[in-house]
Amino acid sequence: MQLLKDRIRRDGIVKPGNVLKVDSFLNHQMDIPFINEIGKEFKSRFAQSPITKILTIEASGIGIACITAQYFDVPVVFAKKSQSVNLDGDMYVTKVESFTHKKVYDVILSKKYLTPQDHVLLIDDFLANGCALLGLIDIVKKSGAVLEGAGIVIEKGFQDGGKKIRDMGIHLESLAIIDSMTDSEVIFRP
Ligand code: 5GP
Repeated sequence: MQLLKDRIRRDGIVKPGNVLKVDSFLNHQMDIPFINEIGKEFKSRFAQSPITKILTIEASGIGIACITAQYFDVPVVFAKKSQSVNLDGDMYVTKVESFTHKKVYDVILSKKYLTPQDHVLLIDDFLANGCALLGLIDIVKKSGAVLEGAGIVIEKGFQDGGKKIRDMGIHLESLAIIDSMTDSEVIFRP
């Protein structure tokens, strides 16, 4: 998506440790007309899929998922990160290692909000090693819902998350795939 690539080149900041900051328009301050274009693009890429629910993970996926959901006319449900889980049987639980915080979280979702009748689109801001997405995939499997695919705004193609997800046969759409990045340059996959 050219609009996104141009914006990353203009406003993205590369930090040590292969972290790209897009705080000024995507996941701290949010440029809503711009994210609307992202929502439309996801809709066109998954137009053939009978999506009934969008699933994301807190925190930075939520805003993007909400805007995207308006184009699909479906609810958003987000998995919550939790330090300690009260396992009372009403929750799907999985473990996710955070790329940015280097911590392992329990991630939980109420069983009420994902059922075998659902057709799920996963949405997140970044795909790096794939831990967040694999956690969401595990929750979808536990729920018996149908996984229709995953929409990612920025995939870091030099980390192996994208390969893992595609090798599982999952329909993955990343709106920009970065092959390499330095302080002065971001190179996208054509
Ligand atoms: P993964 O689980 O695929 O390793 O990492 C994905 C998660 O880590 C995303 O939900 C995102 O919040 C965060 N993340 C990974 N890489 C970056 C990055 O370069 N910049 C930012 N801002 N977040 C990232």
